[in-house]
Amino acid sequence: MSKPLTFDPYEIRKDFPILSRKNRGKPLVYLDNAATSQKPQMVIDAVKEYYECNNSNVHRGVYELAEDAENLYRDSRQKIANWLGVGSEEIIFTRGATEGLNMIARSFAEPILKPGNQIILTEMEHHANIVPWQMVAQSTGAEIRVVPVLDDGSLDREILSQFLANPQSTILALCHVSNVLGTVNPVKEIIEEAHSHGVKVILDGAQSVPHLKLDLRNIGCDFFVFSGHKLFAPMGIGVVFAKKELLPDMVPYQGGGDMIDQVSFSGTTYASGVQRFEAGTPNVSGAVGLGAAIKYLENIDFPKVDTHEKSLLKTTRELLSDLRGLTEHGTTPNKAGVFCFTVAGVHPHDLATLLDAEGVATRTGHHCCQPLMQKIGYPATARASFSFYNTEQDVQTFADSLKRAVKLLL
Ligand SMILES: *Cc1c(COP(=O)(O)O)cnc(C)c1O
Repeated sequence: MSKPLTFDPYEIRKDFPILSRKNRGKPLVYLDNAATSQKPQMVIDAVKEYYECNNSNVHRGVYELAEDAENLYRDSRQKIANWLGVGSEEIIFTRGATEGLNMIARSFAEPILKPGNQIILTEMEHHANIVPWQMVAQSTGAEIRVVPVLDDGSLDREILSQFLANPQSTILALCHVSNVLGTVNPVKEIIEEAHSHGVKVILDGAQSVPHLKLDLRNIGCDFFVFSGHKLFAPMGIGVVFAKKELLPDMVPYQGGGDMIDQVSFSGTTYASGVQRFEAGTPNVSGAVGLGAAIKYLENIDFPKVDTHEKSLLKTTRELLSDLRGLTEHGTTPNKAGVFCFTVAGVHPHDLATLLDAEGVATRTGHHCCQPLMQKIGYPATARASFSFYNTEQDVQTFADSLKRAVKLLL
């Protein structure tokens, strides 16, 4: 039987070797989790063991070693499917969320879009969920409609409803959780509404999987993407979930080995199922690492993670409540552990540089959300993003360092 679920940030930290390193000679306070997460020893070991004991190319190897690699690759796909509550025949491995969104745009959307059809996006999308849609809009004559973000960081549901009701609307692509505002979009409700109008929904889950335990069947999305590296797994591995019934209508994304049935110069036929979308040698060690990350997460009590991350956010706000000129961007009641902010009269890059000198790793810039930055009226903001291994002490150090930085800069 499975072990009881646990959650203690101080215990969890011990599983992440990198968290004990220094940054500029100070203990590292890692608050850049929305950019990438750190990796537990279990994931590092799984990748190491793969190369020490099991490395071989997957598919069509007859020797034992090749079978072992193949089995590990298949087990990872199954673990991910179980984790998301879907079938392994619906899980496509990619390089990451970006490749996943490009794949969906090219393989699913481009063949069905007609001139005048509408692709609905939102103002809070990451560039990865904007640019691929602009590319297919250009090639098909489809049009992009953008749902505005309200002052608190929530979506303008009225406008969204208007867009969805338009008979030309075909696709809605939106993030589950905003990497800037922390907004958790009410996706189940939105998806039901979209489906009632026959609109297919692509969910960008890059920022939701690290914070929430998801059941994709219950959420009801047609497609879901995420990146392994933001889910405590290696870089260069990611996942597309595609509903089984949509796969046969999708055209191949890349051609090459492993995605074919028969190849000849008079014509080639393609493999069926998810295989058709995995051309070439895949990132097997990455998939194994992602499988290990999910195994690690299976013992974590996610509701407690959510409570903990919200409490870090609450503490941050309390500690900074006397900081003059501070603005937090994104204030929806149920937001994820992302604290995006500006301080009047201070450039965010200068803040991040002074924080770095005190060991605190934060991110500044446009966060791959230039349209959202234009909307909120700042070319750049600073962001501290939390994970389950961050502690109240981390937040205290961040707040103290930030106050000192602002004092120096003003
Ligand atoms: C990080 C991120 C992406 C892109 O992920 P990559 O790992 O860079 O491919 C897409 N959407 C959101 C919301 C993200 O945070």
